[in-house]
Parts: sequence; structure tokens; C-alpha cells
Amino acid sequence: MYRTYTFPIYPNEEAKLLLNNMFDELHILITENIKNLLSIDSEFNESPTLVPHLTLPYIDSISKIILKHKRYGWSDDKNTFFIKLKKHMHFRMMSFSINKSVNIKTRHGKVYSIPYRMREYVKQKLTQTKPVSIKIFMKNNKYLASVLIKIKPSISDGTYKAGLDIGVKVPAVLYTENGTIRFYEGGRYRRFLYSKQASLLKTNRIDLSRKLNVSRKLRDLDHKISSKIVKDLIKFKVHTLNIEDLKYIQLKHSKQLNSSWSYERLQRYIIYKCETAGIKVLKINPHYTSRACPICMKHNVAYKRVYECDCGYRHHRDVVGAINIMHK
Ligand SMILES: [Zn+2]
Repeated sequence: MYRTYTFPIYPNEEAKLLLNNMFDELHILITENIKNLLSIDSEFNESPTLVPHLTLPYIDSISKIILKHKRYGWSDDKNTFFIKLKKHMHFRMMSFSINKSVNIKTRHGKVYSIPYRMREYVKQKLTQTKPVSIKIFMKNNKYLASVLIKIKPSISDGTYKAGLDIGVKVPAVLYTENGTIRFYEGGRYRRFLYSKQASLLKTNRIDLSRKLNVSRKLRDLDHKISSKIVKDLIKFKVHTLNIEDLKYIQLKHSKQLNSSWSYERLQRYIIYKCETAGIKVLKINPHYTSRACPICMKHNVAYKRVYECDCGYRHHRDVVGAINIMHK
């Protein structure tokens, strides 16, 4: 399993000069390669012959840029082209030390040590393993490094199964085999942010910072909810989590679903965090999970938030969903 961690680095003037030179050099190389490739006008499905020290990330960026140009036509606007290109620029670094600095080795053998700032938990993660690759790039005029590491997933010592119902009103409801129920709140706030995002997208005025701010808040919220869920899964000793396969969820909630609603990201975060914690995630077909009675299996339709059955069973409809998802 691979993970990438990105953090800011703080080059001094000399190192900045070196990095900028490298970026410029790279820009020229990429531009030339793109022009050559475009003039050949061949299908871009094999790796182009590039200068040897251009590694995978560059090839990646080049293929993306070429696809874009094939679709939208070549732009003579050098400036926009340059800015676009800069975003994709990566530099593979020579070495990296966890407690000291990011080191760049020039082709002439000189080593530059660049200090960095990193969160403590990332540092801990990085000390446990050897980085596979380190890249340096620029974004919004800041220098960033991103480290790719290979991690061994931990093995869960859990014994229980659990089901998770992801919903609109309540973002998620958890039910575990030993009867624990947990509601994860934030649905109202999430809906508020989504409607705000939708209205911002409708306005002609490009208010980028506000748009970005809302998206970031939404992302943070999904991170918070998913972290809480996975923390509970570990606490409740869960080894397998059943969730709905999103192939079907659009149909299930089509009435309440607003187009920008993202179950997908919340689920992706949950799966990602479960993977690291060693918890197995099974995607199940959610047919009738909101209808079947967990006691007698009769199908009922919940009225508002309450699910009621002739057999006397009565519960919150999302809990019924989570129970049925667990049993699938
Ligand atoms: Zn029943």
C-alpha cells in the first residue's frame, strides 16, 4: 500500500536559485518534448524518448498536457502554458532525512540541505519506513516536497462485524454485531455547505477563494467523520465493515440526492482509513436494506425517520439500514 505525504520546504536563497534553475531547465525539456511529440502527431500511448533523468512523474505530466492540447488545440499563449506546466512540475530528489532536511544533489555533486516543516504524525509515519521517492514542486509560489512511502497495513485484532449506513440527514450510522449503535452527525452542516457550493457555482462572478474555502470545509468535514468512524471501529473491535456499494446508492436516494452530494468521497476516506487500520471493507448490494425488518424480514416503508413493523419492531430508519447492511 502506498501513501503520499506533502509538506512545505524552506530553501534559502542559494537553494531557491538552484531549484528555480532546475524548474526552468525542466520546463525547456518538457516544452521541447511536447513540441516534438506534437509534430510527430502519433498516438500517445508509449513512453516518449526522454532525457534519461526525466522520470515517471514528468512522463505523466507530459501525457496529461498532450492530451489536453489534443483535445483543445495547441495554445500559442506561452504564458498560460507556462503556468499550467508549472503546476505539474515535479523533481525527484536524491535523498531525504527524517529529522534533518531534504537534500538535493546537483549533477555536479554538491548537496543542498533544505529545512522543512512537517506534522508530528507524518514524521512518525515516515520514520517507520523508507521513502520510495521524493518530489519537489511549486504551488502558489510555495516550495513543496512530497514523499511517497510504502506502508504495511496493521492487522486488526477485532472479532465483530459491522454495518454502516451512509445517508443524507445523518452522514453515517454504525451498527456492530454486539449491538453498539453510533450516529455520526454533521448532516445539516454538510447540506448547508453543499447548497452554498451549488449557489456559488451558479454565480457568474468567479469568486475562487470562496469556492475553494467551501470545498475545503467539506473535505475537512468528511475527513473528520471518517476518522471518527474508523476510531470507533477499532474501539469496538470490528474486523469487517459492510458498506453499501455506491453503484446502487444513486437509485436508492435519488429523490433526496442533490447532484453535488458526495457520498463517494466520504466512503473513499472510510475505505482508505480502514485499510491502514487493517479493517476489511465489503461493498454490498443495498437492495431492501432500508425496508426489511431485522426481526421478521417483512418489508415495510419507514415513515419519516421511524421504521415500524407489524411484529412490534420499531427503530430509527437509518439504524435499520445499518443492521441490514451488516447482515448482508
Ligand atoms: Zn418485523
